[in-house]
Amino acid sequence: MTEKTRLTRREFGSLVAAGAALPTLPDLQNPTQTRQPDGTPPPRRLVPDAPPFDANLEFALKPVALRAEPFPMTQVRLLPNSVYADAQEWNRAYMARLDADRMLYTFRANAGLPIGSAKPLGGWEQPENGQRSSELRGHFTGHFLSASALLYASTGDKAAKSKADYMVAEMAKCQERLGGKYLSAFPTTWWDRLEKQERVWAPFYTIHKIMAGMWDMYRLAGNKQALQVLEGMSTWADEWTAPKTYEHMQQILTIEFGGIAETLYHLAAETRNGRWAAVGDRFQKRSFINPLAQHRDELRGLHVNTHVPQAIAAARRYEISGDTRFHDVAGYFFHEVSTARSYVTGGTSNAEAWLAPPRRLAAELKMSANTAECCCAYNMLKLARHLYSWRPDSAYFDYYERLLLNHRIGTIRPRVGTTQYYLSLAPGAWKTFNTEDQTFWCCTGSGVEEYAKLTDSIYWRDRDGLYVNLFIPSELDWSERGFKLRQETGYPGSQNTTLTVSAARPGTLTMRLRIPSWLRSAPTVTINGKALEASAAPGSYLTLNRAWKAGDRVEMELPMHLHVETMPDDPQLQAFLYGPLVLAGDLGAEGLTDAHTSGPNLRVGFPNVEQNGSPLAAVNRTPPIPDLEIPTFRAAGPDPASWIKPTDKPQMFQTKGQKKDVTLVPLNSLFDRRYSVYWQVEGPQS
Ligand SMILES: [Zn+2]
Repeated sequence: MTEKTRLTRREFGSLVAAGAALPTLPDLQNPTQTRQPDGTPPPRRLVPDAPPFDANLEFALKPVALRAEPFPMTQVRLLPNSVYADAQEWNRAYMARLDADRMLYTFRANAGLPIGSAKPLGGWEQPENGQRSSELRGHFTGHFLSASALLYASTGDKAAKSKADYMVAEMAKCQERLGGKYLSAFPTTWWDRLEKQERVWAPFYTIHKIMAGMWDMYRLAGNKQALQVLEGMSTWADEWTAPKTYEHMQQILTIEFGGIAETLYHLAAETRNGRWAAVGDRFQKRSFINPLAQHRDELRGLHVNTHVPQAIAAARRYEISGDTRFHDVAGYFFHEVSTARSYVTGGTSNAEAWLAPPRRLAAELKMSANTAECCCAYNMLKLARHLYSWRPDSAYFDYYERLLLNHRIGTIRPRVGTTQYYLSLAPGAWKTFNTEDQTFWCCTGSGVEEYAKLTDSIYWRDRDGLYVNLFIPSELDWSERGFKLRQETGYPGSQNTTLTVSAARPGTLTMRLRIPSWLRSAPTVTINGKALEASAAPGSYLTLNRAWKAGDRVEMELPMHLHVETMPDDPQLQAFLYGPLVLAGDLGAEGLTDAHTSGPNLRVGFPNVEQNGSPLAAVNRTPPIPDLEIPTFRAAGPDPASWIKPTDKPQMFQTKGQKKDVTLVPLNSLFDRRYSVYWQVEGPQS
């Protein structure tokens, strides 16, 4: 969501569409290495010769049986004192500090209702007040409703629920005042601009966040009024889109619209009313889904975070209809983005877009410093969950863990609870966080959601039993099966996890432990202190099928080692990992000020990165900061352990024998420092 005052999505899109500054780079054929350890094979269906989607799209409600599902967040609780529990509490405190009436300000103003004494929010929530205003206003309020519902499900926080219930009721009053259907924080004249293809930021994107907030308040917090509000908004969306021709709607979809179809599909399934799915189908952008269904990567030049939600909408469309074309769209998209367009952290995007052909990540990295938008990580995790529910392959959770540990944990400011926009991987980068009430980036919105739902997807279930997919200190209460499990671990700070059964009914139940793909060999697993004779290979599940009793204790070792990942288009450009943790070199704090590390505006830009001629140069405004000489390395051997050595501090390493040695620590632990993740390394390749 490019900031309006800098470069709007539309301006950005037109620059990209005009090919203004995207360099000529041939597609990298026959890559010898896919960069991500995801390993997900492409879907095995026959690829159609002709584009499979035309103007007509038929819908029939026919839900697909999922092979696995995550436990509801209400049945999982985080244990205290972990990086996850900390992030949850910092975020909860930030959410509690945000005043409900301030978040309602622009809605009431737009509906002509009294605003009271509340002060408006700033940044991307700024109302019309004679100064600059934001055309995205209202988006964060929608995110906040989702985050409150998620937090209630994750923790049972009643204060969070009642604050959001109040907001739903007040927003319902605004909707009533506006005629009972339309609801937003901006006037309907903006829709006329969209209809005529005049300049406007992203109205459907914003509307979707409000609709999704209402859906989550209904689904997770039992708020029936929220469902009514959503049905009213969906009726408005139906009436606005129905008279438009297919061609006109396809034109409208060139302006960022995000995941509105996903919410409409949820509503169709919940109410068993195909009308809402038909409305959702009007948001299927053919120029995006047709190449994907044919396994063609035509993602270059597209805005990432408006298209990941479209892939999620395709996934949901498949789940409620069984239309396998949508299965293939979502599956191929995930495969391509996770293997050919993701950095070592699992993050994707560059200045909100894909600027290079697939597997040209070294080239991509040089095009701007604004890599890896946080919203994209949030949404790719969401997409991974859909795909896993269709085919529970541990590879999806290798990818998930990579993103969660390196891009989500570590992008929330310790104790303060503010979050990042981009996680830059440019040489000499630093982390920048939103201000308390003058920012509200798109990623501030997906940020409050992310850290309110950390109980999600640790444990999954099917008919036979459960999957342990993430190593997070937590308790699971599978009340339907009378089974309780407690996971205690300091991971990733420690290299093991312990699962204790605290309640079990007679009978057998299968427990499947994810064996991470980054392990060197099958790990040691003990049950009640006795080592199992058989384990399972990295990148699979260890299946334990037995009659569990209260007190049974499973312990698994997760020994970490240093390893390298190289860029597919530049083998000498390398990043280092310790187990699942991406390491960053600490380059000091010289020149870093509050103006760099927090800001009402985006402040990421680097003198070390070439920006001349880039359409994105306008985005990269930053306070001056000293040039840094980024060290280069010479590897002593193919194994990084031959020249990167542990220090006396846990998870801290130091290069040895280099012109300038560097200390390396997990990227997720580094704050208020400049860092590099990728390095030029000469010498023997691993
Ligand atoms: Zn964002």
